[in-house]
Amino acid sequence: MKDLEKIIGILKQRGFIYQSQEIYGGLRGVYDYGPLGVLLKNKVKNLWLKDIVFQRENIFLIESSILGLRKTYEASGHLEHFHDPLIECKSCHQRFRADHLLGGEYGEIKFKEGKALCPFCQGELTEERTFNLMFKTYIGPVEELAAEAYLRPETAQGMFYNFKNILNSMRPKLPFGIAQIGKAFRNEITPKNFLFRLREFEQMELEFFVKPEEAEKWFNFWVEERFNWYLKLGFKKENLKKYIYPKEELAHYSDATIDIQYNYPFGFKELEGIANRTNYDLRRHSEYSGEDLTYFDEEKKEKYYPYVIEPSVGIDRLLFAIFVEFYDEDEIDQEKRNVFRFPPFLAPIEVAVFPLLSNREVLVKKSREVYNLVKKDFIALYDDSGSIGKRYRRQDEIGTPFCLTIDFQTLEDNTLTIRDRDTTEQVRIKIEEIKDFLKDKLRWAGEDSNL
Ligand code: ATP
Repeated sequence: MKDLEKIIGILKQRGFIYQSQEIYGGLRGVYDYGPLGVLLKNKVKNLWLKDIVFQRENIFLIESSILGLRKTYEASGHLEHFHDPLIECKSCHQRFRADHLLGGEYGEIKFKEGKALCPFCQGELTEERTFNLMFKTYIGPVEELAAEAYLRPETAQGMFYNFKNILNSMRPKLPFGIAQIGKAFRNEITPKNFLFRLREFEQMELEFFVKPEEAEKWFNFWVEERFNWYLKLGFKKENLKKYIYPKEELAHYSDATIDIQYNYPFGFKELEGIANRTNYDLRRHSEYSGEDLTYFDEEKKEKYYPYVIEPSVGIDRLLFAIFVEFYDEDEIDQEKRNVFRFPPFLAPIEVAVFPLLSNREVLVKKSREVYNLVKKDFIALYDDSGSIGKRYRRQDEIGTPFCLTIDFQTLEDNTLTIRDRDTTEQVRIKIEEIKDFLKDKLRWAGEDSNL
């Protein structure tokens, strides 16, 4: 098993992920992204957009607000249903989700007179009570019911309450989709497992509206599309699994759900959920707002609520999976090496540029010229500190797939060496060929859509 603590250490040290507000002791369940983390996150978002939105003419991207009315979340059912069962230890005051405790997440638990005991101190536990996961706030200065607002627990509601706006402005025909990337907030009882269960996280969601009688077909279609997307990102098939929800485990809005699970260091767990949300959300928002949110089918000459198929993934959970999937250790010249073997199209830094010797001005000058050239087309980094070996190791540790080194021969014939992160092999290449070489190597071959 990969050493999670070690990976987390590297991610912090090298500027991917920081515990938020660590100087004050940290905010649990909330993380900040450093310079490399942001680069990687943006790449993942772009690959999702490319696949979901830009390769398909009937999917529209929106950005809706984070703050939501009480009414919106009454309609969506979140105020009534979005609860987790909370229990607390009367002695050590540790809190648990009852389903996690009884489901074995804390190992085997002891019972006394039929009642479960605290897995940490064997103390008595309180009765189960429900706890709403939404963050509540107030709009304006008065804290009254009418001013109550909520941070969205999912981006999806923005697609439903804007349904009519999209119909009127884009004039789409079924099937069509509305997509969004954005922050969501859940006051999770026990945030844990690094980026897996957060209180503030980012989702990439698609609401795909279909004719009711075609819902099952499109549900199966999206399960396959999304599963294949992970393979196209470079995940090994054996690290992914589909989990079909039994009826009693479905969310309040769902008729069928399949999770795509990833093999995290703590077992196979949900990475993405694909749900058939039926017409629940549009129907409820129509009822609560009084607006008619039906679709007029010109062929059938009738109005109805479309069904909705929703693939939804948390970016943070996905980045966590990417870190685990591509982290590796090997040995180069009898020296241990930490390396992120990100596929080149995912790498936060795409190419690094070095002078062979940092104390030779002619080499530094030429290297700067090459850096200025490549940074126009690629995410590039210039480094001339420490020995060349150390510089290679630093790039390996952040997953940079290619390093260009400028040496004395460069000054004579305008060639330089390009080093491959995975094989560590170096080949000579002409400066004018670098752009095509890198373009080819950094291309993502997953753009074909069969919608
Ligand atoms: P779980 O059962 O793990 O709590 P969920 O079924 O409630 O998750 P959904 O409501 O289906 O999750 O949310 C869609 C996606 O959003 C999930 O597949 C996951 O990737 C992401 N997600 C949900 N909750 C969190 C969280 N607390 N932290 C990070 N990502 C999350």
